[in-house]
Amino acid sequence: PVGALIEAPHWHEVLNRLDARRDVAVVQVAPATRIAISEEFGMPAGTISTGRMINALRALGFDYVFDTNFAADLTIMEEASELLGRLQNPSELPLFTSCCPGWVNWVEINRPDLLPHLSSTKSPQQMHGALSKRAAFARSLGPEFAEGRREPYVVSVMPCTAKKDEALRPGQRGDVDRVLTTRELARMIRARGIAFNALPEEGVFDNPLGASTGAAQIFGSSGGVMEAMLRTALHMAGNDQAGALEWTRLRGVDRAIKTAEIPGLGRVAICNGIASAQQLLQTDDWRQEFIAIEVMACVGGCLGGGGEPKSMDPLVLEKRMKAVYAIDQKAPRRRSFENPQVQALYASELGEPNSDEARRLLHTSYAPRHSRRDFPMRFLDCVDRRDG
Ligand code: SF4
Repeated sequence: PVGALIEAPHWHEVLNRLDARRDVAVVQVAPATRIAISEEFGMPAGTISTGRMINALRALGFDYVFDTNFAADLTIMEEASELLGRLQNPSELPLFTSCCPGWVNWVEINRPDLLPHLSSTKSPQQMHGALSKRAAFARSLGPEFAEGRREPYVVSVMPCTAKKDEALRPGQRGDVDRVLTTRELARMIRARGIAFNALPEEGVFDNPLGASTGAAQIFGSSGGVMEAMLRTALHMAGNDQAGALEWTRLRGVDRAIKTAEIPGLGRVAICNGIASAQQLLQTDDWRQEFIAIEVMACVGGCLGGGGEPKSMDPLVLEKRMKAVYAIDQKAPRRRSFENPQVQALYASELGEPNSDEARRLLHTSYAPRHSRRDFPMRFLDCVDRRDG
C-alpha cells in the first residue's frame, strides 16, 4: 500500500555508466545504509561501515562520495522553520513530516485531506540531488555545468525501494538519476570483486555536500526525524534549555505510537510504521492534540526499509538502532543548525530557511491521486521513457 515493495534493479545500468567514464559521477549515501550493509558481508548486525562504504564507492568509480546526512541537516533547518511558522497559525497544525515517500504516497492516495498538513520540505535524497545538480557544487565543475549544458550523474544509495519512485515524482524528476538500495550496492561490490571486509574503515566524505551532525544520522531510526527537528526548533524558538538534546521517549521499536510533551512547543507523536498512522488517524483527536507528527512507513524507520538486507535476527532493528544513536552520541556537533557547511550554504546561496531560493530548490508540492492505479501507471510510464 505504500509503494515500497517492488525493487526495480538499476545496479547493472549504474555499473555500465561508471565503466564508460563519460560522466562526473556523484553518489550520496543515506544514514541507514552504512550500518546495514555490514550484514551483507557477514558482519554482525549493528556494525558501522561508513568508511568501508566510502572506500568501496570510490573503488567502483564514483568521482564524488557525498553524505545524504548533509541534506538531512538542511531538511531539519527548513522543517523546523516551517513548524515555527505554523505555530503562529494553529489552524495549520499539526505538521506531518514528509521525508518518507511511502507515507507521502499513502496520504496522496488514501487521505488527501491531510495534504495541507504535510511539510513541503523535500526529502534529504531529493534535496541533495537538487544541490548536486543546480547549486554551487555543480557550478564548481566547470562552465558547461554552470551554464546547464551538462549535469553530473547523480546516484543515491538508500535503504528504501519507495525512494526509486520518489526520484520520478513530478516536480522532482531529474534531481537524482538512479536510486540503488543497500542490497543493490552490495551486489555491485561483489560483482566487481571488491573485498569489502578488507577495506579500511577510515574514510571521509567529499565536501561541500558531505558534512553532517549527529542529528542527521538519527534520521534513519523511527523517531529520529522528530528528535532532530526538536533540537533545532527549540534553538530557533530561543529555548536552548539543558536536557533538550535527547528525546529518549521518542526512540525505540517497542511502541506503535510514541508521544512526548515538548516544553514551550507542545505535544508531538511518532507513528512507527504505516499501520500506526492508520491507528492514530482513526479519530480526529490528532488535530487538536499534536503540533507535529512523524510518520515513517516502515516499522523501525528506514533501518527496517525494504531495500535493507533481509535478516532472520528478531533483534536486528534494535541492533541497527543502537549503532545509529552511537554515531550521534560521538558526533562533535549534534544539532543541525551547527553544521558549518549548512551555515555556509545559507550565507552564500539560500539566505535563510524558507527563503524564495530555499523554496525553489528545497521544497515541493503534493496532489491527490484518486486510485491506486494512478501510481503504477505513472511509475511505469516514467520508467519506460527514461529507459528508452
Ligand atoms: Fe523508505 Fe524509510 Fe519510508 Fe521505509 S520508512 S518507505 S525505508 S523512507
